[in-house]
Amino acid sequence: MPELPEVEVVRRGLAEHVTGRRVKSVEVLHPRSVRRQAGGAPELGERLSGRVLRAVRRRGKYLWAELGEPDGEAEAALLAHLGMSGQLLVQPGDRPDEKHLRIRLRFDDEGPELRFVDQRTFGGLTVTDVTGPDALPVPVAHIGRDPMDPAFDAEAAVGGLRRRRTGVKRALLDQTLVSGIGNIYADESLWRAKLHYERPTATLTRPEGRRLLAAASEVMGEALAAGGTSFDALYVDVNGASGYFDRALAVYGQEDRPCPRCGTPVRRAPFMNRSSYWCPVCQPRPRRRHP
Ligand SMILES: [Zn+2]
Repeated sequence: MPELPEVEVVRRGLAEHVTGRRVKSVEVLHPRSVRRQAGGAPELGERLSGRVLRAVRRRGKYLWAELGEPDGEAEAALLAHLGMSGQLLVQPGDRPDEKHLRIRLRFDDEGPELRFVDQRTFGGLTVTDVTGPDALPVPVAHIGRDPMDPAFDAEAAVGGLRRRRTGVKRALLDQTLVSGIGNIYADESLWRAKLHYERPTATLTRPEGRRLLAAASEVMGEALAAGGTSFDALYVDVNGASGYFDRALAVYGQEDRPCPRCGTPVRRAPFMNRSSYWCPVCQPRPRRRHP
């Protein structure tokens, strides 16, 4: 799954190459890629053709293009679900089709096409209605802002974290209080903030909560800085999520390697069908509280 920095890299690339362009036609090559659209390929084509992609936006790991007239309001949204293997490519029309090309958008200006390529077909494109003052796509309306969003309210998020009755990593992954943090950046943020992933949120102090959210913002900002230049002008790619950031990871995927802060071997444990990585010295396990 791509995480926030990868999605932001895609957003920037798309913003540069498709903003302000009017869709001429839509070609759907695989029905699974439009399965979230109630009316399937015909509805997707009807709601997209003739519309302008006014802006490319992101909240957390959700990515969409606003549809409408360039000087008007957002009337709908083209929401991209990248799934496990989805890619959005901006390609010249004479470039041969990719093997796993699922959806093609052509534009009025006859310029490069937007192609949705997805080997495993867990992803797809959907046109949705928008809601609220921020014109969010309806499926995104409940998603919290991410710590890198200028309008992110860290104090409110810290308060929300401390009111939860769960473990801190679960709360980070849940996307409603804070968005954009997946397994990799959760483990890295917890390591930076010196918190164990099972720490009960109710026991977090305000300074600890602030430290954690600041760490999340930092680690994602660094990943973004590392990845922000990794795509070439016409090739917007989310495959190989966070590969560019691997060398900078302190604990994620680093089982038995020395913690960069104290040298203790990093541990791994199963967590929600995946893994958690942590340093047993920098991030001591919370003491069990007996009822
Ligand atoms: Zn350590």
